[in-house]
Amino acid sequence: MAFELPKLAYEMDALAPVIDKKTMEYHYGKHHQAYVTNLNNLVKGTKFENASLEIIIREADGGIFNNGAQVWNHTFYFTSFSPEGGGEATSHLATAIKISFGSFGEFREQFSKAAATIFGSGWAWLVKHENGRLEIIQESNAGNPLRKGLTPILTCDVWEHAYYLEYQNRRPDYVKAFWEIIDWNVVGKRF
Ligand code: MN
Repeated sequence: MAFELPKLAYEMDALAPVIDKKTMEYHYGKHHQAYVTNLNNLVKGTKFENASLEIIIREADGGIFNNGAQVWNHTFYFTSFSPEGGGEATSHLATAIKISFGSFGEFREQFSKAAATIFGSGWAWLVKHENGRLEIIQESNAGNPLRKGLTPILTCDVWEHAYYLEYQNRRPDYVKAFWEIIDWNVVGKRF
């Protein structure tokens, strides 16, 4: 079965001014779509033709890994948002954040710093270890924590295509605004 661009629960202009309509149209409508199209072309006739994205992330290399991970990463990223988002984590995730980082504010500061300081293109991740401990990690290019046996909870895309149309070189401003659209109901269920 061919991979498809996921439908989003919000309109292209719904996340503005944090992520503006033009950025959504390019980032989701063209970049995310291109990874889906590339992956479908690349897996034809390979052992990954009918594989899940998770299997591709864990086992593939080269273009199949890069495009497969980018499809997964972008779906995970875009489904973390809501126009009614923002605030702080709730429930079990809130407790785990407090145990791992001391407070939600300290977690937000460390995650923001990780996102702001990735050199070049990549992703900042909040991940869960098997024992429940949370950690913030940086991944370059299409990097995905599933490959390391970690459970992804939250991610911030810091490829320039994620923010350049609206924020130009001001990545820290994009990362600061990012917190205002996070849907903690969705993110909390991943924990
Ligand atoms: Mn992206």
